[in-house]
Amino acid sequence: MLERLRNSCGWRAGAKQISVDAMIPIFAVPILALIAAQTVQCTIIIFVATPILVYYLHHNFLRFLLRTKFFFMWTCTSVIMLMLIFEISVVPLLEILPEENLVFIICVVGGTSCGYVTKVNADSVAQEGTSAQGLELGEGSGELCITCKRRAPPKAHHCQMCQTCILNREYHCKWLDCCIGSSNLKWYLGCLFFSAIAFIYGSNLTMTSVCHPFILIGTILMPDDCSDVYHQLDLALCFISALYSLLVGLVVVFYLIYHLWLIYLGTTSNERRLLEAGSPYDHGMLKNVFRLFCCKT
Ligand SMILES: [Zn+2]
Ligand SMILES: [Zn+2]
Repeated sequence: MLERLRNSCGWRAGAKQISVDAMIPIFAVPILALIAAQTVQCTIIIFVATPILVYYLHHNFLRFLLRTKFFFMWTCTSVIMLMLIFEISVVPLLEILPEENLVFIICVVGGTSCGYVTKVNADSVAQEGTSAQGLELGEGSGELCITCKRRAPPKAHHCQMCQTCILNREYHCKWLDCCIGSSNLKWYLGCLFFSAIAFIYGSNLTMTSVCHPFILIGTILMPDDCSDVYHQLDLALCFISALYSLLVGLVVVFYLIYHLWLIYLGTTSNERRLLEAGSPYDHGMLKNVFRLFCCKT
């Protein structure tokens, strides 16, 4: 067993060069954005088809790979692409005030640095975990982890991808390619907070620059008519990036609220999942709804 673990560690350390699955987003994200920028129909098709395609890829291929970097590279490519479009195409339109751009950049820097610390902390925990395999943790008084072969602290849960037990484990965040637990939760929340503002604020600034804006309250503008953005490719790209930012921003806000709610309840998403799995009447949201309408399944 130890030999196998050592081998798998060696393989992971040896395979530092980027694999094919990690290369896909570098090309896919800009190409999808270009296609979406052609017409309204293209935009709708790309925005509906991409999540389905990514889910299909994940379900059929990516989840069988040991720790794929696909989602992490998707995050990096998207952030770089959105940032470049904003600074190269939106700012020169001169609709944005320097201080608005400054607030946006501060949020982007805040979000990425918190994300970086989240990942560094998780990686150091995973490193300690794999090197301490077979040893008992000092504070370990919980159940014996079969995979790690050691007693983990009571609130630790094993992560298959990080190959170690993570204290207060929430889940393995594919988009940052690391586990969220007590070592990095506060940084993860910081990352969610700053990136939510950056995505939504950046989206609003872009939309009001490329569409006809109207004044909501004071200096807050909202986009009104966006129908003629498709006449110019650069404006269409700005519009697509704004739409993408808005959708991602809303998902990030949802996650932020979800985590704050879990903290308020004093639990973790991992624990809630385990609790729910223990209920004989709970089979996951989709199946629960399905059972409600079709009695037999
Ligand atoms: Zn373990
Ligand atoms: Zn993990």
